[in-house]
Amino acid sequence: MQRLNFMQVWTVRTKRGLLRTMGVRHRAGLAVVAVAAWIGPVAVGDSGAGACDRDRLVVALDIGHTPSSSGATSARGRPEHAFNVDLARRVLAHMHAAGLDKAALIAEPDAEPDLWDRPRRAAALGAHVLLSIHHDSVQPRYLEHGTLEGRPARFSRHAAGYSLFVSGKNLFFEQSLAVARAIGGALGEWGLSPTLHHAEPIAGENRPLLDRDLGIYDFADLVVLKAAAMPAVLIEAGVIVHPEEEARLRDPFHQDILADAITRGVVEACGVLMGG
Ligand SMILES: [Zn+2]
Repeated sequence: MQRLNFMQVWTVRTKRGLLRTMGVRHRAGLAVVAVAAWIGPVAVGDSGAGACDRDRLVVALDIGHTPSSSGATSARGRPEHAFNVDLARRVLAHMHAAGLDKAALIAEPDAEPDLWDRPRRAAALGAHVLLSIHHDSVQPRYLEHGTLEGRPARFSRHAAGYSLFVSGKNLFFEQSLAVARAIGGALGEWGLSPTLHHAEPIAGENRPLLDRDLGIYDFADLVVLKAAAMPAVLIEAGVIVHPEEEARLRDPFHQDILADAITRGVVEACGVLMGG
């Protein structure tokens, strides 16, 4: 299997550059990242999934929100939906490159599916797993007014990092959790950390943490998860109201890392998803 271009880019970056770019937690983490970079997508093909027939695994990708109801607004005023479109497209490309030939978007970026329509579309595809791609915000109490690059802005540095949500009401909760664990583990191998702000005991948060180290929460009543007739995970890729994290999330290189981790996680869980 061919190496992806971003892997080659990675190898010419300095370790110091990596630390700045990725916010790597510690040097041991850096070593893991370096190994993962050298192994590249080839490792996805040769480990973890056992005999699972990945070219038959149907992965349904959901772009969170719609053009007319676009979710959160970033520190610099960009709608969340635009971030979700960019990342979902990149995840799709990584999955196809990794041999997950049946990965597909459940709707085009300009479509307006409602919340109930999304799991229905995934079922119509015959999906083994539904992944909903989102970008995160914080409660309004943490937003401050200021300026960014000379322009008025509303932002917060209260939280940064990814989060993964599963629903205890999904019929395939254990498999959903297995997928979330695999994705969280792969994100950790790239040196990425979860945000724990959704567990804060305040209105609008207070989500039960299922796995603190991997940033996995139970959000029982998220429609797209609980109504899915297959394992389902909602991925908050990062916090777009955080000015520095927003800049990272716009960086195609960082998007490749996120897409790689999501792809690796799904491949690792392939056997669980296909009943193997
Ligand atoms: Zn969202």
